[in-house]
Amino acid sequence: MVAASPGPAAPASGASGATGAVPVVELRDVWKTYGEGETAVHALRGVSLSVDRGDYVAVMGASGSGKSTLMHVVGCLDVPTAGDYRLEGHDVAGLNEGQLALLRNRRIGFVFQSFNLLPRLTAVGNVELPLVYAGAPRPDRRRMAMETLAGLGVADRAHHLPSALSGGQEQRVAIARALVFAPALLLADEPTGNLDSQATAEMLRIFDRLNGGGVTFIVVTHEDHVAAHAKRVVRIADGRVVDDDRVAAVEDPPPALLAEEAAS
Ligand code: ADP
Ligand code: MG
Repeated sequence: MVAASPGPAAPASGASGATGAVPVVELRDVWKTYGEGETAVHALRGVSLSVDRGDYVAVMGASGSGKSTLMHVVGCLDVPTAGDYRLEGHDVAGLNEGQLALLRNRRIGFVFQSFNLLPRLTAVGNVELPLVYAGAPRPDRRRMAMETLAGLGVADRAHHLPSALSGGQEQRVAIARALVFAPALLLADEPTGNLDSQATAEMLRIFDRLNGGGVTFIVVTHEDHVAAHAKRVVRIADGRVVDDDRVAAVEDPPPALLAEEAAS
């Protein structure tokens, strides 16, 4: 997508070495305003936030505080009204709609609260979709989708329709779809909101394992026990970051994995 050019200002993306790595997410004084005049809503009021590769961030805050707006901006589903956003060093404001869509599709995985699987496609068909949009050749698509499903332990369900999957299996297929491109960043907005406690625990284990393997996470939640899986807790109130707590080092395994290792 972004060709390695010899140009002077082209920021390195991907594996740029351990030192001086470009943050995955870098927001500087970002504002997002919906509407204008007297009815304008300032959903974000000067958010600055930097997230390094490998971090696991929980975003917490009251309803209406701007969490979903923040996720939309970070996920390139929406652009800031003011301020600067760099995704892996790329200035998002400088991109047109097509480039933005490309960046979003290839570099960011989304886990939605409702899994949004297409009912007429099999599990593997759903996981292949982002690759179809990207124009990947059919054999590559199938292989990548199958590998991702296998990594999540649901390869044996690949040829079933979503209606034939359990909730937990659907959730794994949805995560596989988000991961099939090996995105730089995985975003989840209240991913456990509709899950029972067992499915929640399962999803959190998967997230822990993926983060332990290097996937960068930002997860919106209002539940303390979900946030307890993160390495860092950012609190939002009235469109501002009011608290930013580092719980574990970026390069460490997530807290729950560490505890598990310690116990075994
Ligand atoms: P949260 O996810 O923390 O509940 P949101 O980011 O959804 O908060 O919303 C923040 C504020 O922006 C709220 O006041 C909400 O009503 C408003 N808002 C969100 N989306 C829109 C929109 N598309 N148009 C107008 N106002 C919006
Ligand atoms: Mg929300």
